[in-house]
Amino acid sequence: MVKKAKSSKTHAKTKKKPLNNSRKGTNQESSDNTAELEHERLISLINSMADGVIATDEAGRIVITNGAALSILDSNASLSGKSVFSILNLIDARNQELDLKDIVFSTKVSTTSRDWRIRYADGSIVRVYISIAPVRLGYGKGGMQGYVILIRDITREKSLEEERDEFISVVSHELRTPIAISEGNIGNAVFLFEKSGVDNPMVEKTLKQAHEQITFLAGMVNDLATLSRAERGKLTLEIEKINAHELVEEIIESYAKDAEAKSLALTSELDPHLELLESSKLYTKEVLQNFVTNAIKYTEDGSVTIGAHQGQDGIEFFVRDTGIGISKSDREKVFDKFFRSEDYRTRANSGTGLGLYVTMKLSRLLHADIELESKLDVGSTFKIYIPNIKS
Ligand code: ADP
Repeated sequence: MVKKAKSSKTHAKTKKKPLNNSRKGTNQESSDNTAELEHERLISLINSMADGVIATDEAGRIVITNGAALSILDSNASLSGKSVFSILNLIDARNQELDLKDIVFSTKVSTTSRDWRIRYADGSIVRVYISIAPVRLGYGKGGMQGYVILIRDITREKSLEEERDEFISVVSHELRTPIAISEGNIGNAVFLFEKSGVDNPMVEKTLKQAHEQITFLAGMVNDLATLSRAERGKLTLEIEKINAHELVEEIIESYAKDAEAKSLALTSELDPHLELLESSKLYTKEVLQNFVTNAIKYTEDGSVTIGAHQGQDGIEFFVRDTGIGISKSDREKVFDKFFRSEDYRTRANSGTGLGLYVTMKLSRLLHADIELESKLDVGSTFKIYIPNIKS
């Protein structure tokens, strides 16, 4: 079929041109044919794509659309020459209209979103993945500047994601209370057994193992609950005045036992002139606790230090350890969901790989910046700069 189309087009072209048997003429014809063939290939490729493709000129006038784009835009007529800004009515998650013109014209490399929606004339809404990128349409001098907009209907995907998050949220919330009660009771049993003076290593070991596992489970359920709320945008900030000095001392007190169990020194290094920090105490504490839990978990000898320095408009906290350290390649991944290093010393400790992911989510909520410095076999320092948020 392609062959046939090619020969008929060649014929049409030669008819229009004056007869020319020179080499130059033949070359010109063959390059025209190649260009046309390339064009046809491109069009059939674009048409076979499941994502909607809209290419516009510099001013946002539509030059190319594929079938999927027409279907997403709910149109069966050609949209060529029309302004994409008058056709694509985008709104954000709060139903606020978006200025597509502004978004497109301010895009330098690419803009993508999974949170926008298209609103149709009849008021119905479809959730979409959109990617906008400036491109050069065509080659050489004739190639004009323009934009390519890719659109995918992700309504179903989004509602499945929401159902999943809702499920995780409900389950983790329901599990929290029984797990907390079990953890308390098993902790008491360990304590009472130690006090009783009974010599039964078997019972002691069993109780301690049960306590370790239930503590791990409690941490995991807590991370899952925070995570699902963060992903559903359900976390809200309650801003209060935080005494950073007291906060760090509170954390040191609650982790003293864990550090002692591993013979680690747990100390603080605090700026004497710390001002009150205006932020969420709950999340600031959770972030620091995550850093300290890891620091103790991944350190066999030496110390863990929690510190705070006064900054221009906030406080920089840090947690430094003399532990196993994190390799350069792992440093880029530690904040990813479920990431755990392959290092056997990491695997010797239980973990979910959710702690730092949750920490990153919370830090965004706090408008905070996280920095990580680490050297394998020397230790790691996690820093977080938390700015004041005026309530
Ligand atoms: P986990 O439950 O595995 O501790 P996290 O998300 O808290 O999950 O951490 C992700 C990974 O980052 C860990 O598995 C470990 O490989 C690495 N990591 C985090 N903190 C430290 C640290 N202080 N020292 C060495 N490695 C760390």
